[in-house]
Amino acid sequence: MIKKTREPDLAGVPGGPVLQALGVHKVYDEGPARVRVLEDVSLAVQAGEMLAIVGASGSGKSTLLHVLGLLDQPTSGSVRVAGVEAAALSESQKSVLRNRKLGFVYQFHHLLSEFTALDNVAMPLIVRRMPRSQARERAREALAKVGLAARALHAPGQLSGGERQRVALARALVGEPACVLADEPTGNLDRHTAQGMFDLLVQVNQELGTAFVIVTHDLDLAGRAGRRLTMADGKLG
Ligand code: ADP
Ligand code: MG
Repeated sequence: MIKKTREPDLAGVPGGPVLQALGVHKVYDEGPARVRVLEDVSLAVQAGEMLAIVGASGSGKSTLLHVLGLLDQPTSGSVRVAGVEAAALSESQKSVLRNRKLGFVYQFHHLLSEFTALDNVAMPLIVRRMPRSQARERAREALAKVGLAARALHAPGQLSGGERQRVALARALVGEPACVLADEPTGNLDRHTAQGMFDLLVQVNQELGTAFVIVTHDLDLAGRAGRRLTMADGKLG
């Protein structure tokens, strides 16, 4: 008899944490040095919560976001996205889960320079094989949410730094993720523009109920999140 392997349900488990790390360790073992970056990190991010992570440069914040976002594997321990255990998934299943449940914003916008803001924002939906006209319609709505409806047909090179980060946020939101992982999203902006960007993150969190995990150097901004944790010596506390 052929035993059929059960397909994991990538729709996730409703009601539980949107993201979970359980006893996660990450060791980089390249070259002569073993770098222990994450040591027994456990974390649960609840639906709709806004969590800030602070910590010195090199303390492992980006590594943690990569592991939480299924872009990197922990050396040991487990990561669950919407209750789905990542270790059991193939790379393509991880991509599907990431595309459906998570959004990403980085310090640098990573927009494609040859595409308009609208088409950049539509990209995660095109990847989902949504018809182009419908994807563009949703992208328009997402751009309106970040106050950039009028800039839809501009290329990234025609936008200011703050506007580009807003487009990156719209791209992260267009798929209606449960949680956005933002790695120093204001790190490349001047003080005033950074405040405006953070205001927008708070507004989106409150209006759409999207959970956020935001890595930032800025303690003032971090203080505005619902919860704040610090990375130090590989530990999160
Ligand atoms: P942060 O985002 O807090 O500045 P990172 O997560 O980028 O910190 O890096 C944490 C530590 O892990 C640093 O010591 C860094 O040099 C090391 N590190 C990051 N990525 C790699 C890698 N691919 N190979 C080896 N070491 C790495
Ligand atoms: Mg970093």
